[in-house]
Amino acid sequence: MDKREVGRAAALIADSEAIMVFGHEWPDGDAIGSVLALALALKAAGHRVQAGWPQPGEVPHKYDFLPGIDLLVGSADLKPEGIAIAVDCATADRLQELKEPALASGGLINIDHHPDNTRFGSINLVDQGASATSEIVFRNARNLGLELDKDAALCLYAGIVTDTGRFQFSNTTAVTLETASQMVAMGVEPNRIYENVYQSDSLAYIKLTGEVLTRAVYDEGLGLIFGCILQSDLQKFGVNMNETEDLIDDLRALKGHVVAALFKELSSGVIRVSLRSRVDCDIGTIARNLGGGGHRVAAGYTSSKRTVDEAVEELKGEIIASGGSAGRR
Ligand code: 5GP
Ligand code: MN
Repeated sequence: MDKREVGRAAALIADSEAIMVFGHEWPDGDAIGSVLALALALKAAGHRVQAGWPQPGEVPHKYDFLPGIDLLVGSADLKPEGIAIAVDCATADRLQELKEPALASGGLINIDHHPDNTRFGSINLVDQGASATSEIVFRNARNLGLELDKDAALCLYAGIVTDTGRFQFSNTTAVTLETASQMVAMGVEPNRIYENVYQSDSLAYIKLTGEVLTRAVYDEGLGLIFGCILQSDLQKFGVNMNETEDLIDDLRALKGHVVAALFKELSSGVIRVSLRSRVDCDIGTIARNLGGGGHRVAAGYTSSKRTVDEAVEELKGEIIASGGSAGRR
């Protein structure tokens, strides 16, 4: 991390009474954790804080135990003022309707760990070697002039746990584990995050998982396992799409697969695609070629197709065009 850039960010924060903190659309644990931790620390430092993410702006149930939820503002209620901090966003477009107030603010600090980050901020704290944006926030907080308390550390721990797949993915480094260790020393209880994030599914969600996994397909030639969640599934089981963030990990249990894909039909009819891969296959590039982005092993995009079948063909075509994942093992 560039020390001068951190110094510039610290000066901008110190000079700003009002600060907006934004995460990306459909926020995951890392985006939510970094938004809440920064909001808590900035408020403790005496700033006026508005924190949130694009509509629908809800907090997925498994994260609603996190401290700082009361500092969240729906984007429709936002009163743009002061400077802005964007977290976990590779591009400004990930901010959707918050992009405009962020870019028009008195200064935009972009804190992120995506390799394809476009450095859209006026100050960019981007470290693609960090396991999570939460790790960057924790390790730089003091240099940004912020004190993190146990509550903020809890939010950031949740961010790291979820972005590293509970310290199992390839982005888990010695620094990640050392950071988590410091958080636990501050009083964070790992089992509390585990119970809330990974043991708070509804029975309806567990049954939906059964249905989605029953329909899953494995294309052995491509090494591609894929499944889909349709609006009709959500209605049948009474599940909200924002509860399904981890379902793709169930597909990844398959021995020998290279790429896992989950196609999600949103209420608008649009199809969102989540991709995961083993380290030797770069799905970040595949997602970028299809209009999205992400990391080498975890990426996503919004399909231009209107049906899951067409979206599956589109993805297979892209995998084949990129050399075919099976050939890259
Ligand atoms: P997920 O599958 O959990 O939604 O996303 C996996 C990773 O890909 C995350 O790091 C996320 O930021 C990134 N990602 C997902 N969708 C998009 C997208 O539409 N555009 C970009 N640039 N990144 C995405
Ligand atoms: Mn992240």
